[in-house]
Amino acid sequence: MILLLRKGRTVAISNDPQKVYAELGRQAEARAELREIIEFHRAVLEIQLQVFAPTPAIEFGADQVRASVEAGIPLLSPEVIVVPNDAFAALYNAICSLVATYRPELADEVKALRKTSANEQQVARKGWLLSANGQNGAVSDLERFMLVNTWRPFLWPYAITLAPLIEDEQWYRGQCPVCGGEPDLAALVDEGQRWLLCSRCDTEWRYRRIGCPFCNNTDHRKLVYYTGESPVYRLYVCETCRRYLKAVDQREHWQRRPLPVERILTIGMDVAAVEAGYT
Ligand SMILES: [Zn+2]
Ligand SMILES: [Zn+2]
Repeated sequence: MILLLRKGRTVAISNDPQKVYAELGRQAEARAELREIIEFHRAVLEIQLQVFAPTPAIEFGADQVRASVEAGIPLLSPEVIVVPNDAFAALYNAICSLVATYRPELADEVKALRKTSANEQQVARKGWLLSANGQNGAVSDLERFMLVNTWRPFLWPYAITLAPLIEDEQWYRGQCPVCGGEPDLAALVDEGQRWLLCSRCDTEWRYRRIGCPFCNNTDHRKLVYYTGESPVYRLYVCETCRRYLKAVDQREHWQRRPLPVERILTIGMDVAAVEAGYT
């Protein structure tokens, strides 16, 4: 239904959530060391799927899309998106409960965050802003996780509709052309083209091969990457803005998993990057 993975000349959303869910199930079986973390994320996805409505409430004309993209403006803004407040708050609280179940040591922190959802619109707006600019130091990692994951299923239908309308050579920016979110994973494909995965709506879009999508730094002396045990994965860090980006090399890889699955399989790299002082 949704797969348009890098064929043709449009950006894409490769994350048919049902396929991601199934693949996470296979990975949980195959990787004992990651089973617990995968099962947690699979449980989050399960409740996200319950609110996922594949038909977006708005329609964009091709002209409107072209004009926005040419001007470098992401297509979505909070004014355009229709998110039912009660559904948003219900999902937010359901994710709170899951976190408290899987990570009992975070229960108190979760409890405090749950209270903040009393003002549903404010929480939703906060989540939108922090995902779009990434620089929100006032928000803990836990709150960020919950806000991003609450927004995600509400953005999927827009991404599925809009991403195929954008030509991949038109954008080349560090933020998502659909929702303006930041990338949290990169993939090298084919002859080395680099695609980025939106941390928020799971759109994939093409970006320059070299350069930091967060600060646009292209000085190769300030860009470093590390490889781990598997040569397929790399951790790129930017010494200019101190941000990091995980990457998966899918050029030779016989099995290309959906990038939202790779996002979860590489959580160890997030831990390593944060411990090394990158955000
Ligand atoms: Zn996005
Ligand atoms: Zn940078």
